[in-house]
Amino acid sequence: MNVDYLRVSVTDRCNLRCIYCNPLGDHGLRERAGILSFDEIHRVVRLCAECGIRKVRLTGGEPLMCRNIADLVRRLAAVRGLEDLSLTTNGVFLGSMAAQLKAAGLKRVNISLDAVDRQCYQQTTGFDLLPQVLDGLHKGLEVGLTPVRLNCVVMRDHNLSQVIPLAEMALHLPVSVRFIEYCPTSRVTRRADDYVPSAEVRRIIESHWGQLQSVAMPNASGPAVYFTTANAAGTIGFISGRSSVFCDNCSRLRLSSDGKIKPCLHADRCYDVRKLLRGGAGDETIRKLIQRILREKSCYTKITSTAGDFLMQSIGG
Ligand code: SAM
Repeated sequence: MNVDYLRVSVTDRCNLRCIYCNPLGDHGLRERAGILSFDEIHRVVRLCAECGIRKVRLTGGEPLMCRNIADLVRRLAAVRGLEDLSLTTNGVFLGSMAAQLKAAGLKRVNISLDAVDRQCYQQTTGFDLLPQVLDGLHKGLEVGLTPVRLNCVVMRDHNLSQVIPLAEMALHLPVSVRFIEYCPTSRVTRRADDYVPSAEVRRIIESHWGQLQSVAMPNASGPAVYFTTANAAGTIGFISGRSSVFCDNCSRLRLSSDGKIKPCLHADRCYDVRKLLRGGAGDETIRKLIQRILREKSCYTKITSTAGDFLMQSIGG
């Protein structure tokens, strides 16, 4: 698999308290001085592009909490060799920022949406902000941050009832509604047995809609598999990080908010690029490290998802 995708966590701070990610909010956050600056992120992305990275996704934490995120987008959009620049957000601030992000060169967004019932949304995220997220979704579509994908982490004793109403959004809107298997990442998140395999979610949808038809997505490069049904404006996707192994199809590296490059979400190994950046290393030294990581990545095979103790928001989910 050609490794050409970098996911960048621009901050570990988040305005929500999602029960599957970091319900305690400030738990485990780094000191601000340890977080990479936009200049440092830009340099790493430029060097990664020189080593063959073609796609970058900004994530977090919540990337739209960085008020000048459009400046970073503008700078990254101008990096030679990059073909795709996208962003994952909880959508709360997207309504007011979608137009400037599009103008800065952002191509598309993924929006986390785990419920369409207002109370369930509040119980999931800690805040009554569903209307703001839906406004963000519509603004994203309006300004052309497309294809818009909606990401839903399914948890058995929590939002299983939301599967059908969420899937129905793909009937009416040109969006991909993607159901993600819950991965217990730390001792502060939900119980491990809240995990629901994608096969079960698919059965629930098919019991309402009949058999889903597999569909190839032209620009999809991740582990999601996509389906559709008659007369749907959008698609349904499944990301099965626990019930399946997709190392062979994994083309991504991650840059954490504190400057570690992680070749695999489920392996312990990471490389401290911040140390090089702040220690005065030249471009060639950093490029050599990136090339070594890319070589090493090709050796990862059949790593199954395990429960760990890490914060998705600092690594960049
Ligand atoms: N704040 C942004 C957001 O809410 O989309 C970006 C950061 S969030 C960590 C990115 C993604 O990580 C979410 O869409 C969610 O799907 C995923 N994620 C976080 N914790 C997870 C978990 N325990 N299991 C599966 N997915 C998780």
